[in-house]
Amino acid sequence: MDRYLVIGDPVAHSRSPGMQNAAFRFHNLDARYEKRHVLRGEIAPFLEEARRELAGFNLTIPHKGAVIEFLDEITPEAAAAGSVNTVTVRDGKLLGDSTDGYGLEHALLENFHLGPAGKKFLFLGCGGAARATAFHLALRGAETIRIANRTIDKAGALADELRRYRRDLSVEISAIGDEERLAFWLADTDFLIQATSLGLRDDDAMPLNPALLRNELASRLRVFDTIYRDTPILRRAAACSIPAAGGMEMLIHQGAKSFEIWTGLPAPLDAMRRGFLQGDRESCCD
Ligand code: NAP
Repeated sequence: MDRYLVIGDPVAHSRSPGMQNAAFRFHNLDARYEKRHVLRGEIAPFLEEARRELAGFNLTIPHKGAVIEFLDEITPEAAAAGSVNTVTVRDGKLLGDSTDGYGLEHALLENFHLGPAGKKFLFLGCGGAARATAFHLALRGAETIRIANRTIDKAGALADELRRYRRDLSVEISAIGDEERLAFWLADTDFLIQATSLGLRDDDAMPLNPALLRNELASRLRVFDTIYRDTPILRRAAACSIPAAGGMEMLIHQGAKSFEIWTGLPAPLDAMRRGFLQGDRESCCD
């Protein structure tokens, strides 16, 4: 049997086992996917075990960047983003890939029927999620990437890397609290990507002044929150009739791409969606 894992700290909340095991069942594969709690300091011994015993694994917080130095190969996109969420084990070698950006691209297609080519993006936040996805959007022909972040130096560092990655990409940065600039940008944006961690908790505020989202933006603007739950920004967008979607399809599609990388088979998206929503009923322990 081929064994797969998702590792992280925390990882108990992960719905990847339900999703991936549904795909294995759909294709009648002799394979099993589980989750395992791995601390930051445990990554090196885990990888030695993985080389011997696993067919592949996913990584979540805090391992996506830290794993890179231990890998034998890494795709150019994952190397540029400094983020790996999918590792394939082949002949004891560890091959790293990043599927978060693919997940976002296909979530936009699924939710809004629009791709990234020629589009203007405004990211709120520039942590791991923004970083992993922005390089993919750049690769897929985005015209402009604007980044608004609380810590402006981090936005500046990511912007410099994006400009080096694609010289003709237009990249601008702002403090997330600069309302005048955000208002100006929002009137000239196709996709607002909420990639801060604000919204994970019930009492979280919106990362920007709610008044900046107005009905007049609805003809062009689409709001995507990377968080998979109902968040303040999604509620505000709905109140202004701005098309908006949460992070579920991004999670489904990043997992679907991992499945295809590992197996070479087409991901059964409907089965994976059902597995994602139902959880892994065969799983005994978190
Ligand atoms: P991260 O690396 O910790 O980055 C967090 C970001 O949020 C940073 O830009 C940080 O700004 C900002 N932030 C945090 N608290 C804030 C506050 N009070 N006000 C303004 N900005 C604040 O986290 P991450 O890994 O990028 O994850 C971000 C979100 O993406 C999470 O909610 C996660 O659930 C989601 N995500 C979704 C998917 C999916 O498939 N749907 C995949 C990955 C992640 P500073 O730089 O100033 O600290």
